[in-house]
Amino acid sequence: MHPSASLSPAIRWLLDRHPDSFVFGQVYAGRDGDRFCLRSIADRDRPAESLQELPVSGLRQLAQFDGRGEFRPLRSAPDLRSGWVCIAPGAEQLELALDQLYPGGVVDAWAARVDPPPVTQYRDFVGRQTGMYRVAQNLTDAEVSEVIRASCGVRQCLKRRRWTVDGVREDSPDTKSDIACLEPCALFLECARRAARLAQEATASLGLVEPDRAVLEAALEQLLSNPAPGVRAGDLGHPLNPRRIGLLLEKLHRKPAGLSSAPSGSQTQLGTG
Ligand code: SF4
Repeated sequence: MHPSASLSPAIRWLLDRHPDSFVFGQVYAGRDGDRFCLRSIADRDRPAESLQELPVSGLRQLAQFDGRGEFRPLRSAPDLRSGWVCIAPGAEQLELALDQLYPGGVVDAWAARVDPPPVTQYRDFVGRQTGMYRVAQNLTDAEVSEVIRASCGVRQCLKRRRWTVDGVREDSPDTKSDIACLEPCALFLECARRAARLAQEATASLGLVEPDRAVLEAALEQLLSNPAPGVRAGDLGHPLNPRRIGLLLEKLHRKPAGLSSAPSGSQTQLGTG
């Protein structure tokens, strides 16, 4: 049997698309014939000897924790560790290696090659939810779009979102990786649940002057660019969780619902519920 006959259609498609070296997520795959040398794109120009050599079987463990030792609930988050190199001797091992780093990523990229891609749209996805996640059905399309910006932006996830809700475009190919997101992930669903619960809370109004909003926005943007240490991505209950900060930023951007001029004209009311 010819070696390529046993390869999955997904990896064959990927290699047909990238006959030379290529980038997948945050991984640079250097190609030398049938041999692939994988490393973080941050290490693309570093000599292999200066990197820690890992076997293909070691990549799953690598992908579980970020550089600060925090668990990565979302393997497509843009915080894959650098400083390693892995040799995959052949396309089969390459697929295995990429699957350790981005579970299901090659298959999903392949599945999304057709038009339209086989997605599960938000409304269909939450329509199937029961129990504690059912509340995510209550979000309006505008509120879902806020959760998308807070949860699926390039600072949080490299997957190209192909599912959507009315009025929201799917991610464009030039802003994200080749790895397709075909339905909301567990972390997104938790963020949507949290947003729906917050929407049910009583609104507290803070008397703020208009320029205060710029201060708040700048402070929150700063926190998103420099996430607080020790805050787990999956801990949506933590006030410094990046997705929670993103949700608050979205509220600040709402006009006039989140921030409206006070009758006196000098103050604004910030709804924080
Ligand atoms: S739902 Fe959003 S955060 Fe989750 S994998 Fe898809 S794009 Fe990424």
